Amino acid sequence: MKSTPKTDHHTRHAGSMPALHGLSTRAIHAGEDRLRYADSITTPIVQTSTYAFKDSREIDAYTHHGKERFEYGRYGNPTELVASRRLAALEGAEDCVVFASGMSAVTTTILALVRSGDHIVITDDAYKKTLEFCSAYLQRFGVTCTIVPFGDYAVLDRAVRKNTRFIFSESPTNPYLNIFDLEKLQAIAKKHRVLTLIDSTFATPYNQRPLELGVDLVLQSGTKYLAGHNDILAGAVLGRKALVEEIRALHKAMGGVIDPHCCYLLLRGLKTFVLRVRQQNETAMRVAEYLEGHPLIQRVYYPGLKSHPHYEIARRQMSGFGGVVTFDIKGGLAAAKRFLDHLKLCYIAPSLGGVETLITHPATVTYYRDTRKERYALGITDTLIRLAVGVEDPEDIMADLDQALRRASRRRRGPYR
Ligand SMILES: *Cc1c(COP(=O)(O)O)cnc(C)c1O
Repeated sequence: MKSTPKTDHHTRHAGSMPALHGLSTRAIHAGEDRLRYADSITTPIVQTSTYAFKDSREIDAYTHHGKERFEYGRYGNPTELVASRRLAALEGAEDCVVFASGMSAVTTTILALVRSGDHIVITDDAYKKTLEFCSAYLQRFGVTCTIVPFGDYAVLDRAVRKNTRFIFSESPTNPYLNIFDLEKLQAIAKKHRVLTLIDSTFATPYNQRPLELGVDLVLQSGTKYLAGHNDILAGAVLGRKALVEEIRALHKAMGGVIDPHCCYLLLRGLKTFVLRVRQQNETAMRVAEYLEGHPLIQRVYYPGLKSHPHYEIARRQMSGFGGVVTFDIKGGLAAAKRFLDHLKLCYIAPSLGGVETLITHPATVTYYRDTRKERYALGITDTLIRLAVGVEDPEDIMADLDQALRRASRRRRGPYR
């Protein structure tokens, strides 16, 4: 075998890639060493749970002299290391930790930052499981949480207390694609000297880079656009090194480590990340415009449309509007169900960001436990549909939506048909 490459392939900030490469180049190459095992072009999957030391001298070099190498699977693996570097390069972050899921990233990050007696602020439009974790579970550890209405910056400002550790929000949010004004968020956070956390899953680093706007930590569900093929779960937290190190330390105990093979699929998905998201932005914009003019549609929510309440904020802080389009169809619950039942191309499934177009009906999927009154209080109507476009031909997606809408609008099959 050839001698091992001189670059230390264990350092987190491997400098084999100039930082100034474009996003597409970084999505393909960042984080990888030029020379790899067996001259492989792809990063090999090292499917092992533990790593052997050659001898006692190597143990000593590792434990006392800072030799960088792998030790045990929960503390990291080669594909995880490359993925963390690559995601950091895409998001413009100093450091990154990759997790087994987006929720593992969210919960580990929050737990790493808070102490008993702390207070946190979260916007009411956050991912349901994140809200649940913050409002229900954290209480058990003496951490209080104020949920503020999304977009009300005065209320947000007043909600911050002396013991507030951070403000957490998403942007864009689910399902209405509300956009948080990150400049306003930073002004409030700076005034009170609290940390800011943004779940940027719906945007991806192609459409928005919150760290460049001063946000302290970005969270990603890599399950969505980053992996992009509806085949794995993954998550990440990104930010400056000192903060991310605290999270990494807890991650090693919490154990939400991403499996080496799964992480390979994340790396593979990332290679086409820019191509996919560019296409999804374009398709979503076309579909949103099409639906806005459709006679069977009540209302469309897409931040790239002038009719969206946060269109101006989105234009300022985003470079694309994402692949999710939400809309209310005409009719009632029965019409919404008929619409779903007539889809032939789009799958009825939660999640977003993959190559397959997925549609979800929040009233009967995400909020099925809530009463109609509770749902309506949250703005989740019976006829609300969330469409997450894939990378199929836009014409085919629109044709499928159109035929399902037309069929749903005919109440029932008449006796003569
Ligand atoms: C999906 C999602 C999560 C959770 O990620 P998982 O990978 O499913 O654990 C968190 N936040 C947002 C905005 C999401 O869309």
